[in-house]
Amino acid sequence: MTPRLVSVALNRPMREPYAYEVPPELAPDMEVGALVEVPLASKTEIGCVVQLDPPLDPAAMFKLRPVARRVSGAFVLDSEIIGLCRWLSDYYLCGLGEALATASMIGFSDTEARARISWQVDEHWSGGKLTPRQREAADHLQDHRSEEFDSVAAIAEAGHCSAAVAKKLTEVGFLRAKETMPEDFAVPLPPPDSKPILADEQQVAVDAVTILIREGRFGVSLLHGITGSGKTEVYLRLIEEAFAHGRTALCLVPEIALTPQTVDRFARRFQEEIGVFHSQMTRLEKRILWEKIRAGRVRLVIGARSAAFAPLPNLGIVIVDEEHESSYKQGESPRYHARDLLVVRASRLSIPVVLGSATPSLESYDNAVKGKYALLRLATRPTGLQLPEVKIVSLGREAIQNPEAGFTLFSEELLAGIRERLARGEQSIVFLNRRGFSNFLMCSNCRWVARCNDDDIVLTIHRRGRGKKNEDLELELFPGPLERNDATLRCHFCGTYHDYPEKCPECGEDGLVALGAGTQRIEEALARHFPDAKILRLDQDTVGGRQAWLKAWQEMVSGEAQIILGTQMIAKGLHLERVTLVGVILADVGLYIPDFRAEERVFSLLMQVAGRAGRKDMGEVLLQTYMPRHAGIQMAAKHDYEGFFRFEMEKRRKLRFPPVERLAALTISDSDRARAIHAARTLATILRRRVNQVDAPRPVVLGPQPAPVERLAGRFRQRVLLRCATHRPIAALLSRSLADEQWRPGATTRLSVDIDPQDML
Ligand code: ADP
Ligand code: ZN
Repeated sequence: MTPRLVSVALNRPMREPYAYEVPPELAPDMEVGALVEVPLASKTEIGCVVQLDPPLDPAAMFKLRPVARRVSGAFVLDSEIIGLCRWLSDYYLCGLGEALATASMIGFSDTEARARISWQVDEHWSGGKLTPRQREAADHLQDHRSEEFDSVAAIAEAGHCSAAVAKKLTEVGFLRAKETMPEDFAVPLPPPDSKPILADEQQVAVDAVTILIREGRFGVSLLHGITGSGKTEVYLRLIEEAFAHGRTALCLVPEIALTPQTVDRFARRFQEEIGVFHSQMTRLEKRILWEKIRAGRVRLVIGARSAAFAPLPNLGIVIVDEEHESSYKQGESPRYHARDLLVVRASRLSIPVVLGSATPSLESYDNAVKGKYALLRLATRPTGLQLPEVKIVSLGREAIQNPEAGFTLFSEELLAGIRERLARGEQSIVFLNRRGFSNFLMCSNCRWVARCNDDDIVLTIHRRGRGKKNEDLELELFPGPLERNDATLRCHFCGTYHDYPEKCPECGEDGLVALGAGTQRIEEALARHFPDAKILRLDQDTVGGRQAWLKAWQEMVSGEAQIILGTQMIAKGLHLERVTLVGVILADVGLYIPDFRAEERVFSLLMQVAGRAGRKDMGEVLLQTYMPRHAGIQMAAKHDYEGFFRFEMEKRRKLRFPPVERLAALTISDSDRARAIHAARTLATILRRRVNQVDAPRPVVLGPQPAPVERLAGRFRQRVLLRCATHRPIAALLSRSLADEQWRPGATTRLSVDIDPQDML
């Protein structure tokens, strides 16, 4: 059965793989999942074999070009991952090759040559069953016992056999893999921890999922537990249960929570090597770990988004911690959501998934309410600690104390709180919600906020255009005080510009303030208030690398850092016993970005941050805000998730936005604004014309409109939204419309399709 043809998926947006002819000498090396180099136009490209001898129209046969070579002997995506990628490419409407390249975690490339994995004949090999061909190759290889082979191809040469046979010999253990790490990152194991007795709620959760593990059944459980309720302990027990059944486990955490502390907890418990994927790894390190996992030498994988594809054989349980995190959605093609992907992966494997969060996404909680997911609740902390008391501190104009900065905000309460902690030798966290921190205009006297006349959308302050470059500075923080003449107000929904008023149009007072600030500015202000305190600032600028993070970590744990100032980075996964105060500079900030999930994100972030206080002793949280009566802020202060869920679902029902209906966002961009608008209108027209051709429920086409951030990286962006009660008609409509002959975008125009978009900007 030597294949004469193969279909090869290339890392490109095209949906269908290409067929190639297999030269006879390469035939034995062809297998599904292997990487091959193939000709494409006048170049060659690396792709992945996805089918042997695909059925083909005979007329097409003699136009086929031959496969040039097999790229790497060992690198093979197995059929489980390929099947998952097929689903991914159908659902998210991206190329199968793009999906496979993502799944390989390092793209399609010839890394084997650089990966220092070598094989040697294992002298202790017990001699299992071998086929005659393998036996023959093994005999040849006995003559090379002292040799180290650095590739499967080298083994094949010495064994006078095909790569497939050589590979088989590495799998059965006749040849033992040895890896020389480019940099030894295997850390020594920490001392073992002691297993606590589970609280009742934890036991109920563990039991519910254990049944599924035992019976090998698919099921999604939403573990809704307040911060510190012992969700991690539940994960540990479930992983242990999977191990006891001879199976492996995958635990996804957001990149930001992938701290040494998190991994340490798992290592303490299991006392074995854990496969950790983090974004700072080199391709080679990823590759080596990938091989190790695939060979079954690591039973537990922890990692961020892309770890969803970890090639764990015999997977028994999948855990997605902080399942509401929007970073699980990839921002570029393939725009997959790792949580949703893992639910599909688990269902294909008939294993359980646990989604954990203190503030579940509306999507997941809605699924639980509807009974699609099992809801497991942890409402108390096993340590007996209460949730911290959250105080809303209403900011008035007197709080704007620092006129040079224009907006530096510390209430007397927050200053007093920090002062008190410094005196007691405790730590304080000062938190700035910087994500989507756009600047907006407010009256500090009457709380009027500049909004667009037509649609009630909060206006964003822009620096007035000076030449082309300065035209759109929406998400940039102002470096200093704002001159009125410099600024203009813009609506991100309808695109109109508004005058920057002299005085408050509502009360006529001179109380207008441009709100917006960066961590650096706050650090300076803190240093002025507390000149002797040791302030540690944590944000993307100060802790880029892992080393910097470890150093900062040391300063936090040792208590050396007295005030910890930071962004999202400090909101997750930090367990610092000496932190007894958390101050949120401005709780309202993210509320005013033109994204329907803005309030959900703010709410969940405030709940997360609040959880950082009082991990050991009673903690206090101060939320500074200009909107003390805002429902989202009030409910965050009361730790009332259910209340927020009901409140927010009301809004989603009105908009018929997710999770009530499904959404796809099409972004059409061009360096020329007119061309972008023209292409977007053409596409919207085609979509509207074809809507009747798909089965009900029929999608609604919204737009085109300028995207909220209209100009990005030198391109003008137009947005068309598709909304529908279910996903399938959206995909059907899109497939038809993009194949429409009238859809012929110019060479400079780009279209991106985002199914279930998370980031609406
Ligand atoms: P979460 O992941 O929900 O934030 P953790 O798993 O980090 O919560 O648990 C919070 C703290 O409670 C940890 O210090 C953990 O060791 C402790 N803990 C968890 N379960 C128990 C238990 N059953 N008995 C005592 N302490 C526990
Ligand atoms: Zn006013």
